[in-house]
Amino acid sequence: MRTVILGTAHGANVAGKHSPDGRLREYQYSRAMCRMVRDALLARGVKCIIDIEADLEPSLTARVSLVNRLARQHGDCIYVSLHNNAAGNDGRWHDARGFAAFVAPNASRESQRLATLLHKHALKQGLGGNRCYPSTGYYVKSLAVCRDTVCPAVLTENLFQDNRDDVNYLLSEPGMQAIIDLHVNAITEFMK
Ligand SMILES: [Zn+2]
Repeated sequence: MRTVILGTAHGANVAGKHSPDGRLREYQYSRAMCRMVRDALLARGVKCIIDIEADLEPSLTARVSLVNRLARQHGDCIYVSLHNNAAGNDGRWHDARGFAAFVAPNASRESQRLATLLHKHALKQGLGGNRCYPSTGYYVKSLAVCRDTVCPAVLTENLFQDNRDDVNYLLSEPGMQAIIDLHVNAITEFMK
């Protein structure tokens, strides 16, 4: 059976990466969501591990090496990295809202299929936001954790940490549940 590797976002020491009011910290939120998604997948009998649970990320290169080591060790794997988007890095609130899935330019068909499913299940949770998204449902960007990893890989931007409404929703019970459910539902559909 396939192993799901969940990727946490950044480290506690990376500048920016929080809401203007400091209520949401991306490293923290991502780690909390990864643990909840892992527990939900394990409860459904899906093998799931987290790449870095500690607050610090040694370096992006070290993270990619770790993911590839885990992927080789566990055999058949997929990688999903959980982040929160930001429209600016000026410490202010912005207007952009909603979910986005990313794959690398060298993405495999499996990465694309996983990204499409994540987008589909985000829409089901009402997280389409207020921007136009590509017809495929996912964006293409040269992100190291997608580009340099050896298994199918998708990075999810779970709403905007610099939009007030998104942050309020992300920190609410229904908001957290929606983020968990979209990942669990997309991953289990992908595994079928
Ligand atoms: Zn991020």
